[in-house]
Amino acid sequence: MIPEPIAYVLLAVFGLVMGSAVTALVHRVPRQLSWVRGRSACPSCEAPLAPRDLVPLLSFLLARGRCRHCGARIAWRYPLTELACAVWAMLLYLKVGPAWSFLPLAFWGFLLVALTWVDLDFQLLPDALTCPGTVLGIAAALLGPGPHHALLGVVAASGLLWLLAWAWLTFRKVEGMGGGDIKLAAMFGAVLGWPLAFVTLFLAALAGSVWGGTLIALRRGGGKTALPFGALLAPAAMVVFLWGDRWVNAYLSLFRHR
Ligand SMILES: [Zn+2]
Repeated sequence: MIPEPIAYVLLAVFGLVMGSAVTALVHRVPRQLSWVRGRSACPSCEAPLAPRDLVPLLSFLLARGRCRHCGARIAWRYPLTELACAVWAMLLYLKVGPAWSFLPLAFWGFLLVALTWVDLDFQLLPDALTCPGTVLGIAAALLGPGPHHALLGVVAASGLLWLLAWAWLTFRKVEGMGGGDIKLAAMFGAVLGWPLAFVTLFLAALAGSVWGGTLIALRRGGGKTALPFGALLAPAAMVVFLWGDRWVNAYLSLFRHR
């Protein structure tokens, strides 16, 4: 057995390394660049990055957030993504412990982080991320709560989004939701099961109304400005996985007789 503090240090390092892989995915998948070939380079001066530039978080801090060659600012999202993946790895372990489902769930979360950024940048949820994500989600469910859990979750989440997309198209003649959202729903529905999949949709819709309301208040958008819904769904699914069952229990206990 590994002592607990060391386990969490290893988890953080694992998450940071995967986080830097996630930033590479976010850069390469939407542009259809090869994921394996081609070295990472500074987006401004295109100087290839040396191994010392690729140490997650530390490189950013040591270079004070600037490229060593041209001095261009490095976007804060790189260290943020690495940090998010490290925190995910640690919180996930805190939740599921040394279970077989830990690894598929860890990568499921890393892909959700990638999908959040890709959707924000490109309003796109590529199959290259959602399809492996769904496979990982189903694998995690089979190792944990079982096939019924996964099936009900997928049908509930994807089914509801499909229905909404259909209704939007029929009654408002607007293509509100894309196929990408429906596939993303399958990815988190498989892991969360049906009650928590609905909680995720509700949470993302709530965040979307706050965001949309703020945009309208700032006069930056109208009622038809499309928000990247996937960028809300993906982090919502991670949060609900970690804490959703507590919220549901607290909510249900309101109605229980004492
Ligand atoms: Zn540069």
